[in-house]
Amino acid sequence: MFSIAIDGPAGAGKSTIAKLVAKELEIAYLDTGALYRGIGYYLNEKKVDVLKEEKVKEAIASYKVQLAFEEKQPQIYVNDSNVTAYLRTEEVGNIASKIATYSCIREKLLSVQQETAKKMDVVMDGRDIGTNVLPNANLKIYLTASVSERANRRYKELVEKGESCDIAKIEADIKARDKQDMQREIAPLRQAEDAILIDSSQMTIDEVVEQIVKEAKERKE
Ligand code: C5P
Repeated sequence: MFSIAIDGPAGAGKSTIAKLVAKELEIAYLDTGALYRGIGYYLNEKKVDVLKEEKVKEAIASYKVQLAFEEKQPQIYVNDSNVTAYLRTEEVGNIASKIATYSCIREKLLSVQQETAKKMDVVMDGRDIGTNVLPNANLKIYLTASVSERANRRYKELVEKGESCDIAKIEADIKARDKQDMQREIAPLRQAEDAILIDSSQMTIDEVVEQIVKEAKERKE
């Protein structure tokens, strides 16, 4: 099986890029952040105190997390309910980032991700794909951009969706998320030694996609 790992901080454009790369190479795409968001959303719905690791651990022991590809789109199921439509809000992102620091959550989601890469050629984006989930990925990319550029992109994305938002708050959230993701004890966000660094601050989406597709094709040959 062929796998591409794309890691990087929040708002670097990983999901947009990964989706286009997958389309170009005609392979599956898995946004692993959606798994963390899915459990986070479900815990919040069930009124579990996500700030307390013990409570989360207790709750998720019986949770079933599943991934299904429906018309090539990954759908996240927690205890048989499809939560995919509720995941892209800032609130759910912040909950996901918090619970992603807990080992019980990371262990639970590790096998779902690894099993996917065993079954199909896939592009996965996240924080620890190249370092932890798929250490033998055929291609590893570390995609980043400046904080202000990432905040701008997130702002535009939310405005397009009709969500009201404040750019200063988005920038503060991104900084807090970076800190949380990079400084956590388990599987922190960092560039794998064999990953290619791409800073997309001054690049167009097409330029980034083209570079990754080129690298992938070279490795596939
Ligand atoms: O990428 P996205 O913003 O959807 O991810 C939500 C949160 O899930 C991230 O802030 C990060 O803390 C966590 N995450 C992770 N490992 C991954 C993917 C996401 O810890 N592979």
